[in-house]
Amino acid sequence: MKNRKFIFDNNEEPFVPKEVQALINNGLEFLDKARAELEDSKPKFSIVSFWTAVEIMLKVPLIHEHWSLVCSGRRIERSKYLAGDFQSVTYDETCQRLGDVLERPLPKETIAVFKKVKDHRNRVVHFYHSEFTDTQVKAILDEQADAWFALNRFMRDQWNNIFGGPLNSKLASDEDLMVRSSVFYSDAKFRYLKPTIDEKSKQGFSITTCTVCSKKAAFDNLFNEESGNTLHQTNCLVCGFKADPFIEVTCPVCQARQNLNGSGEKDFNCDNCNHSSSLHDLLNEWDGKLEDFSHSGLPASCCDCDGYETVCEYGGSYLCTDCLVLHESLSTCNYCGGRSTSVSEMSALVGCEFCEGNTKYLND
Ligand SMILES: [Zn+2]
Ligand SMILES: [Zn+2]
Ligand SMILES: [Zn+2]
Ligand SMILES: [Zn+2]
Repeated sequence: MKNRKFIFDNNEEPFVPKEVQALINNGLEFLDKARAELEDSKPKFSIVSFWTAVEIMLKVPLIHEHWSLVCSGRRIERSKYLAGDFQSVTYDETCQRLGDVLERPLPKETIAVFKKVKDHRNRVVHFYHSEFTDTQVKAILDEQADAWFALNRFMRDQWNNIFGGPLNSKLASDEDLMVRSSVFYSDAKFRYLKPTIDEKSKQGFSITTCTVCSKKAAFDNLFNEESGNTLHQTNCLVCGFKADPFIEVTCPVCQARQNLNGSGEKDFNCDNCNHSSSLHDLLNEWDGKLEDFSHSGLPASCCDCDGYETVCEYGGSYLCTDCLVLHESLSTCNYCGGRSTSVSEMSALVGCEFCEGNTKYLND
């Protein structure tokens, strides 16, 4: 272990030895290739590249445990392994070792979807067939998408300790790209998530059709429902799209309910009784003594939309009444003394988004 070179050496990142990282990079290149070939409508090539990526990625946990686990044959020598002159384990042996040696076998469903892709891949490589109908091509693409999704779960969930860390965001954004560019992939992800979505639906969650990926997987998350002014934040479990939030308010005079979106409207006008007040007065839940309000720092300013004094206290957090973005906390600018949702640590010098800072000092 002592001589191994680690790419990441701070404590937060997993230790990934160089040879493991090289293998991962190799697998990622084949995945990129498979994705490009899919976009170029070359499904036959894509399935070959994709399968190569699967075979590589499955070996990553083995090599991470010990390099000799990816070698087969009776004589195993480190020097030959380093020179690339060794007999590599087959796909079946790889699966077997993940279970028998590492005691973390591939899930049954994964084995099943991988098998279908492997069989198609073998047919593509070993036979000539031009007789695929459109329906068959679609079925193959569906199966490849299921396998792709299973491979992502293998990397992002089951073996997150190796593939995680700095790779995590790359894998996550690659997956978002797949969902958005391939209907086959978003279908596969939807199939995978269906039981979770059905369960949530049974629990009473409101689920709507996502405007981006068209899957019925957009969850309406309610915030601060008890207050009578409920913030709705919808996000899609399949493609991650977040719709613009809106707030369902209750008129304090006639109790009629009405939806407001974050259009920068400053006032609330009741459609039912014509009552009107500032949106800030309607939503602000600050309940200290009136004479203390000037010290509360409210209304604060929003750094998301540059709204000046648009932020009120709401549901234990802070809500911008202009853009309806929730903020966990407020900070004070050490130069102008103004409160806003994000202030630089150097504010005494550089100021905040709502002041110039110490220009005299800065210009010198
Ligand atoms: Zn979506
Ligand atoms: Zn009203
Ligand atoms: Zn805002
Ligand atoms: Zn300032």
